[in-house]
This record gives sequence, structure tokens and C-alpha cells, in this order.
Amino acid sequence: MSYLTSQTLQYGVTHAQESADSLPHVPWLKLAKSAPQDYGFSVSRGFPGGIDTGFTRHKIVSRAALKRRHVSFFGPVNGALRKRVEAGLNIQVTDMTNSAAPHLLPVFARADLGFERGEGCWLIATNGERYLDFTSGVAVNALGHAHPALVKALQEQATKLWHMSNLFQSPDGERLAARLCDESFADFVFFCNSGAEALECVIKVVRRYHAGKGHPDRFRMITFEGAFHGRTLATLAATGSAKYLEGFGPPMEGFDQVPHGELDAVKKAIGPQTAGILIEPIQGEGGVRSATPAFLKALRQLCDERGLLLAFDEVQTGMGRTGDLFAHRRLGVTPDVMSLAKALGGGFPIGACLATAEAASGMTPGSHGSTFGGNPLAVSAANAVLDVMLKPGFFDHVQKMSLLLKQKLASVIDRHGDVVSEIRGEGLLIGIKAVVPSGDLVAALRDEKLLTVGAGDNVVRFLPPLIVTESEIEDSVARLERACAAISAGQTKRAAS
Ligand code: PLP
Repeated sequence: MSYLTSQTLQYGVTHAQESADSLPHVPWLKLAKSAPQDYGFSVSRGFPGGIDTGFTRHKIVSRAALKRRHVSFFGPVNGALRKRVEAGLNIQVTDMTNSAAPHLLPVFARADLGFERGEGCWLIATNGERYLDFTSGVAVNALGHAHPALVKALQEQATKLWHMSNLFQSPDGERLAARLCDESFADFVFFCNSGAEALECVIKVVRRYHAGKGHPDRFRMITFEGAFHGRTLATLAATGSAKYLEGFGPPMEGFDQVPHGELDAVKKAIGPQTAGILIEPIQGEGGVRSATPAFLKALRQLCDERGLLLAFDEVQTGMGRTGDLFAHRRLGVTPDVMSLAKALGGGFPIGACLATAEAASGMTPGSHGSTFGGNPLAVSAANAVLDVMLKPGFFDHVQKMSLLLKQKLASVIDRHGDVVSEIRGEGLLIGIKAVVPSGDLVAALRDEKLLTVGAGDNVVRFLPPLIVTESEIEDSVARLERACAAISAGQTKRAAS
């Protein structure tokens, strides 16, 4: 066995991470010289400056990618292997623990579980175990992991052009924007890198619209309790959640939050400074809470009557998640501005703000920008996502899988009403309201090797890749059954003792 196991090197970095870039602290040359056969290195000493230009004659470490994968990192590394590794590589072998990320800002409560690679709806952990991924990286990997079309698109683009400033033409970006406009209400698209940035642009478009019409005083937006719009200072203010705002100083001015679904509250909140209304067609983080079509239609009418812009945040609901390219297409209500991100790049970071020409009328050269927005790699990934999603039958498949999942989940509720009580959502943005703490259910599902995501209102989200198959849906429900049974059994045992 020539595989290396369970090494954290001195910085807790495992060999599951493959490139020199992702191992900034690893002494690559030392490793390369001491055990080239294990690492797939070839070493040459031709370039005295120590900079790898990428050209063969300049190479110091010419191929730093690891040859071998599927390595188990958890659990002890003993005996001859440990001796060989420690002696041969002059490094200390330590077993990986929960504290494997001491330098990442501790803003996430990370599970003690890491993944090395993915295939479709499956993730393979660093210890080799297979997990059914019903998180899709929180509604991002809509085409699953390592989809051949996305891999091909990125590989091809990587050999051509990685980055180009927005000071020049972007033919592929223009093509992507045109396709998004063709599929939506929009005339213009601004590309950025994340959901929060897309929302920043939405907010700026709305404010600037009124400023351009001679009313810079109209800058306020109405948002809804339970919303989530991102973590930048403006989107946090729009989100309006005390727990996220705490400790960051006064929230940015200009957002008036009202109870979700209450039209009278919206009407009351509209004042002379109101510029627009911002809403998620389905609140994802807030607990998979849908706005009714009637409510959204009433908002549309209100905006038209009062000269306001209607903005939809489709960062989570967009790109096929709810059974059509955009949730609002199924709801029959059209916004003036919309944010997209998450699944737009299928896992490659890209966000977008879409707007009608009228809504975008205030956005002039210099009024907004982004260094990386519309990056060629991101744009090629997003064009490849659209290639797949716009094939006939893609959204039919999402709807079919949604129906199957909902039916199967309903029968679990019938049998395990002590653990789960309600199903919510559309398409493959499904929420299961838990009776027990939702975190307990997420953990029990993880024990069954099914990955899910918590949400507000004690909800557990099932967000499978949209390419999920019938048998994977059935498999997920079987895992949920077992998790519910385990929780029920634990409750019975506790009650008896
Ligand atoms: N808007 C919605 C509806 C979201 O669900 C999210 C993220 O979960 C965001 C905005 C923020 O996106 P990002 O995390 O990419 O900034």
C-alpha cells in the first residue's frame, strides 16, 4: 500500500487538497525531493529565480498534483506506514481531528466531516464514505457534482482565458446575458460574484431609478420578516434579522420590514420615500415559506399604482430549483429587478442582477462595477448550466421528482408524526418542519449518510441536485425513515429511564 493516510502536516492540511495553491504552507520542494513517487512530482532545478512561470524550462515543481486519491484521513495511522511516512518525508503524522481548520475565521459551525470529491448526487468523504448530498452546497450544485458538461466547459475555458477586465468586450458574457434576458422579463444583466452582491446591485438599481427620475429622496425598500438577502452591510439591513445585525453598528438606513404575507402592513409601510419592495418568492433560509401567488400579484399591482419597483430575490429559488428556470415564471408575476446567484454557475461563483430597461434607467457608466463580475471562467460555467437546463424536459424532470419526493415524505409524516409534521416548498426546494429540534434531525440524517440543511422555523431543507433520480429520492426517504425511527427510539428510551 503506497497511499498516505491521515496526515495533517504541520498546518492541518490533508493530501486530499491537491494543488500547490491550496497548500500554501506545505514545503513542496522538500516533499518532492524526498518522495517523488508518492506525490507525482517531477523536479528540475533549471530556474534560479524560484518562480514557476508555467513554462517547462522554468519548472521547479513541474507537476504538483497528487497522483493518488481516495485516501482515508480519519482514524489512526500506525506501524510501518507511519514510520515510512515520518522517516521518508520528514514530517510528523497526526490523526485528523475536528480542529483541522485552525486558521479559518470561525464564523461557521462546521460538522466534523470533510469531502474529497463528488459524483452526481453523491459526495465521497475524506474517509471514503459515500453521502447522498441533499444540500447541493445550499442550492448551488443544481447539476450535481462533476457534471461532465460543466467540467468540459471549465477545462476548455481554463486553457483560453481566465480573467479579463470589464474595460473590454465580453462576448461570452454578452451571450449569457442575452440568454438570461430571452428567458426572463429583463433587458439588462449585471454580473457579480455572489448572491449578496447581486442584491447590492438590485438595491442600487432601485435607488438610482428614482434618483434618475429626480427623486433621490425615494430610497427606502420594504422587506419581509424571515427574509435572507445576504451578509454585506446593505443586505444585512434588508434581511433585518437582529441576530445577524448584532454588533455591527447601526444598520444601513433605508429598509422597512413588515410581516410576511400581510398586504395591509405593506400598504401602511409605503411612504413618500419608498422606492420599491423586495421579496423572495419562497423564503429559503427563513424556513421554506412561500409567498402566495395572490400576495405577489397584489404586490405587483401596488407597485404599479404607487410607482414603486418590484424586486424578486431569486438567489435560492432561481435556476430551476422550484421547477422552472425562475420561480416567478410559475407564479405568473413579473418583477422589475431580480437577483440570481447560487446555481447560476453550477458551483462556480457567479451572481447576476437582471432588470428591465426602465428599471435600469438610472444605471449609467461608472454607477456600478466589479473586478471579477462576469469573469470568463464563471461565464463559461453559467453558459454550460443553461445549455443543460434549457434542454427540453429538464424542468419536467424537476417537477416529477418534486412530486415523488413530496408523496414519499407525506407517508413518512404519517408514520413519524412525533419527529416531522409538515412539508413545504416547490420543486426541489423542500422544507420538512420538524417536531424535534431541527438540528437533531439534520444530525440523525447525517448519521444515515444523508446531507440536508437546516433553516428557520425549525425546518430541515431537502435540496437535492436537480438531476436526482427516482431511486435516489427513494433512497433519501429510506434514510429519513431510519433517522426518524432512531430519534423515536431514543425518545422512548429516555422516557422509560
Ligand atoms: N438571497 C437569498 C435568497 C439567499 O438564500 C442567499 C444565500 O443563502 C443570499 C441572498 C446571499 O447569497 P450569498 O451567500 O451568495 O451572498
